[in-house]
Amino acid sequence: METVAVSPKRAMKTDPSVNVAIIGAGPYGLAAAVHLRAANVETCVFGEAMEFWERQMPVGMCLRSSWAASHIGHPSRELTLDEFAASESWCISKPIPLDRFINYGRWFQRCVAPDVDRRRVVRIERGSKGFRLRLDGGETVHAQRVVVAAGISRCRWRPPQFDGLPKELASHSAEHHDLRHFSGRRIVVVGGGQSALESAALLQEAGAEVEVIARQERIRWLDQRAGWLKSERNPLRSLMYPATDVGPPILNRIVAAPDLFRRLPRAIRERIAFRSIRPAGAGWLASRLRDVPIRTSRVVESARPAEDGVELRLDDGSRRNIDHVLICTGYRVDIARYSFLAPDLLSSVRTADGYPLLTDGFESSLPGLHFLGAPAAWSYGPLCRFVSGTPFSGRALTRRIAGDRTVTRHAAVPDHERAGAVLAEPS
Ligand SMILES: Cc1cc2nc3c(=O)[nH]c(=O)nc-3n(C[C@H](O)[C@H](O)[C@H](O)COP(=O)(O)OP(=O)(O)OC[C@H]3O[C@@H](n4cnc5c(N)ncnc54)[C@H](O)[C@@H]3O)c2cc1C
Repeated sequence: METVAVSPKRAMKTDPSVNVAIIGAGPYGLAAAVHLRAANVETCVFGEAMEFWERQMPVGMCLRSSWAASHIGHPSRELTLDEFAASESWCISKPIPLDRFINYGRWFQRCVAPDVDRRRVVRIERGSKGFRLRLDGGETVHAQRVVVAAGISRCRWRPPQFDGLPKELASHSAEHHDLRHFSGRRIVVVGGGQSALESAALLQEAGAEVEVIARQERIRWLDQRAGWLKSERNPLRSLMYPATDVGPPILNRIVAAPDLFRRLPRAIRERIAFRSIRPAGAGWLASRLRDVPIRTSRVVESARPAEDGVELRLDDGSRRNIDHVLICTGYRVDIARYSFLAPDLLSSVRTADGYPLLTDGFESSLPGLHFLGAPAAWSYGPLCRFVSGTPFSGRALTRRIAGDRTVTRHAAVPDHERAGAVLAEPS
């Protein structure tokens, strides 16, 4: 098939076809795009860059992951956070503030995929050339392969005891970009992980009256005892703590090697995953929560609207009368929540517990359909839930796709054109 370099807008009008369509312009979609393009695989990216981070994480938040674990994957390890910081004359601060990371992601996007098509993909179905994608606005694009890097925003987990409460009384952490509007109100935060603890700190600092209710026996603080072990003075540091920064020593080595993880018996994989991502807070948060009551080993048994807010009943028989419950119970992957996947396509994807079962190159049981990010965690492990998994996934995906003889390459396309969308006219 002869390929023609065309502008995305012109291409859309001619109902174009592309080799690889990437759904999502978060860290995983962007890393996939730069790896595929570096291998001269024609690629089109859809979505709003860094949208999840911008809209569904709270102002004032800092990343839990370390500096070394927060570079978005690039085939020649370029466009790192360090490069971005230097280009912005940013005096590096650790932990990484959310707004800096969003700017980093957008800078990365402008460098590797300035042609991102910001429209949403509303439907993916089987098509004559593999897949047919319908975009917001009604236009259609054909793709031989589709890479779903659409994140977890649709997979919020809201425990059933809060079902009877409207969102003015009980909301998921993802529903807020700014917690400051809770100033002066009585808030219970449910959960014991980073999101719950950081939200509680931000709420308290904004002048809310906060209490945290967590079901685990104690709050785990990360890196509080690692001091010298994680410091530059430890000659074994890089051996003990790979840059990926997921999981405790020894297990972190296995997590950092998703191809190895994938080959382990399922029971072992589950144990490693559980141990690597159980709820915990970054050590630097502890001092900010000194004045926030944290009740552990407690579960909210029921919640109902009351005259002046919400009444919660806990499993120890105690009650709370408050203004609002902030539910920080995380996300549960279920690809059925990707409403853009046509039902017959979804039913062709083998799954376990809502996760697609993936083979080499993050490919699902439906050939040509790939999943990156958290949905890949069942097969490739907990690394896929973090930005530090983007280098591996970009490489593995590209090995699989670039090795496929049917994809169109662009050997003759000069570098400056390659940054833009290079779409093939339908043959
Ligand atoms: C509060 C919180 C704190 C976190 N902190 C960290 C941290 O410190 N370090 C870390 O590594 N990870 C952290 N994470 C996890 C983080 O969300 C993931 O690492 C990261 O977002 C995964 O990137 P992604 O590209 O898979 O998904 P996302 O970043 O969610 O990107 C998905 C993209 O897909 C797009 N999209 C979705 N549907 C469509 C569609 N139909 N059409 C077009 N585009 C679509 C969206 O617009 C979005 O741009 C945190 C998560 C939360 C909730």
